[in-house]
Amino acid sequence: MTVRQDYDVAILGAGLAGLSLAARLAATCFSSLRVLLVESRVAYARDRTWSYWALDSHPFQAAVSASWERWAVAADGIHVVCAAEDLRYESIPSDAFYRLAFDMVRAAPHIDLHLGASAIAVEDTSGVQVTFGSTSVRTAMAFDTRPTNRARAHGLIQLFGGLEIETDKPVFDAGTAMLMDFRCAQAGAAHFTYVLPSSNHRALVEDTWFAPPGLHPPDHVTAIRSYMRSRYGVERFATLFEEQGALPMDPVFRPRVGQRLLPLGVAGGATRPSTGYAFHAIQSRCDDLAQDLLAGRWPRPARARPALVRMMDRVLLDLLGRQPELAPRIFAALFKNCEPRALVRFLNDSARPTDFVAVAAAIPFAPTVTAALRLAMRRKEWPNSITVG
Ligand SMILES: Cc1cc2nc3c(=O)[nH]c(=O)nc-3n(C[C@H](O)[C@H](O)[C@H](O)COP(=O)(O)OP(=O)(O)OC[C@H]3O[C@@H](n4cnc5c(N)ncnc54)[C@H](O)[C@@H]3O)c2cc1C
Repeated sequence: MTVRQDYDVAILGAGLAGLSLAARLAATCFSSLRVLLVESRVAYARDRTWSYWALDSHPFQAAVSASWERWAVAADGIHVVCAAEDLRYESIPSDAFYRLAFDMVRAAPHIDLHLGASAIAVEDTSGVQVTFGSTSVRTAMAFDTRPTNRARAHGLIQLFGGLEIETDKPVFDAGTAMLMDFRCAQAGAAHFTYVLPSSNHRALVEDTWFAPPGLHPPDHVTAIRSYMRSRYGVERFATLFEEQGALPMDPVFRPRVGQRLLPLGVAGGATRPSTGYAFHAIQSRCDDLAQDLLAGRWPRPARARPALVRMMDRVLLDLLGRQPELAPRIFAALFKNCEPRALVRFLNDSARPTDFVAVAAAIPFAPTVTAALRLAMRRKEWPNSITVG
């Protein structure tokens, strides 16, 4: 018996991952696919800013609002500035992304979009049943981006609060993204400020902690005010936008829920444990899925990151959790001693064998080896997370 399917592909959730896949499937080469996109939100506003190294292209270039040819790490007495030819760090404000992606999706007659509908999906032997509101449809396969709360209870959490601010005085260097400025109070966790200037008057300034469970950092706004005062001599600024996040740094990898129901995005473990970045991994995974669908192949489940990457991330997280006071030294050494393009490939999950050597050689030897040995004794705890490509 063949069961009639209403759709070929359903996507649950239209955030970064759902829209990234749907926007690719909106291309005319996919017009023979019937695609369903269901999202619980009714309206969208800017709720985050995605930043990443632009190693590969993606369909959302028109939404990029700022880019930097240099990136820096600073700590007391240390200021490391990096650059690599033709490589930029870029930012996309989520409202620009949502607008662009919805324009693509709405222009595709083969995609049915339902906003304001909370969806559930249940796989059976012949497909997936997707239910939202009073509607229930069948689809041959489904990609599920609905958030889960799966993370290892003992893992670090990246806690951050950011303000996009405008100052009266021109204080920022618009050519340099300050990735980690450790010149702020260090108390029980790695703590730094992240500064993305879009002009010399305007920047996204983010107070960030790699916090153990149970640590509640002081108020982010107070920390940002204090940072602006001590670093730039700025007492007053206008706040244009605010964002907050709590990203588990040890996410659980889920390659599949069933044969026809595949998790996608952060829900599938796309977050890189050591950084909290997920944008690049999500774009790369959506490229692969679109390629499989175009070739008429059944989409392959995501592969776990290589054991070496998992091990290196685990060593770093173990060190940061146990000895957060070493964080400024570790990150400054990493960015100072590692060739920038090799480090970016490593962070973007496209490392070559020599890049692993370059990264391992760049970080302080003694604490890293101690952490690696400690972990070798507890090998079962190495995280399992998504790979790309
Ligand atoms: C504030 C913030 C800043 C970040 N900055 C960066 C960054 O700079 N660089 C980077 O690489 N990563 C960043 N990340 C991490 C990651 O890239 C983002 O979390 C990204 O949005 C994850 O995409 P996603 O599609 O997996 O999840 P989301 O974008 O959260 O999308 C999930 C969607 O599912 C919808 N949904 C939920 N339940 C249902 C339901 N029952 N039915 C239908 N729909 C449902 C939600 O409304 C949402 O739209 C950031 C995260 C946050 C929170």
